[in-house]
Amino acid sequence: MRRRGRAAVPGRRRCGRAADDETPPGRRGRVTALVGESGSGKSTVARLLAGLHPRSGGDIRLHGETVDVKRGKAFRAYARRVQMIFQDPFASLNPVHTVRYHLTRALKIHGRDGDDLEQSLHELLSRVQLTPPERYLGKFPHELSGGQRQRVAIARALGADPEALLADEPVSMLDVSIRLGVLNLLRDLKERLNLAILYITHDIASARYFADETMVMYAGRMVEGGDSETVTQQSAHPYTRLLIDSAPDPDRHFHVKVADSGAGEPPSLIDPPPGCRFHPRCPVAMERCRTELPPRFDVGDRPGHWAACWLYDGAAG
Ligand code: SF4
Ligand code: MG
Repeated sequence: MRRRGRAAVPGRRRCGRAADDETPPGRRGRVTALVGESGSGKSTVARLLAGLHPRSGGDIRLHGETVDVKRGKAFRAYARRVQMIFQDPFASLNPVHTVRYHLTRALKIHGRDGDDLEQSLHELLSRVQLTPPERYLGKFPHELSGGQRQRVAIARALGADPEALLADEPVSMLDVSIRLGVLNLLRDLKERLNLAILYITHDIASARYFADETMVMYAGRMVEGGDSETVTQQSAHPYTRLLIDSAPDPDRHFHVKVADSGAGEPPSLIDPPPGCRFHPRCPVAMERCRTELPPRFDVGDRPGHWAACWLYDGAAG
């Protein structure tokens, strides 16, 4: 049950213990942003979900079923449904092979290279708006712009006919002028192909624009989540506010590092601080924050908005 907390603490709003579930709410037809500073563990989450990183615990669930990510048939079936798009489109494409090779290989790996291979190649390139397709099939990566290369990487991921895309900073290495086009493309694909997209970014402004839901990550833990508008406009967690405050101009993408804002450096993930991991940098830290790890509390008036912060413990004395 939700209950109203003490009005004396700045920022305190309606609060209560939230569901104790660490699972990001990735759903088909939705974009979920995972936002945080460099070194917060965002890419590790994507690599774990893609089965590219050994796990030390926890489960991966798809449609409520736990996935066995050990190499084998079950993993291959899962890997086809969940495709990754990497930050650096140049590094992710082999420079000695053409667009045709990259896309054909993806279709072959996933058994989709039947008699209609040529048509499938054309469809993939049309889906990422590289038209006419015959202009691009024979090109090598160095003959393409950064934005075109990232579109080829997206087409290659679509070659598996996936249900989910894990997009790790997909536009951060592209010129600012073409970022919006690639994000709009992903949004369009989400709607047309009913994809679930996990959008990993350090840029909370783009999360608001692009994602349906936003989760904020700090030192390997999720600290706030909810619909993107609420998380960015009515932030509850002190770390989310710091992320937003460290962007001086809302019309500019967030190039300012939080570490430059005077709030110190993020902690090591190998030996994180006890209690709330944000407490050494938190301007409103309390005594209990140094020793007790805060659970998730419902906050604000919008359903599904939560923060892992003791400020929202309605039961606090
Ligand atoms: Fe700050 Fe404490 Fe909340 Fe952590 S739990 S963010 S230290 S107030
Ligand atoms: Mg990263």
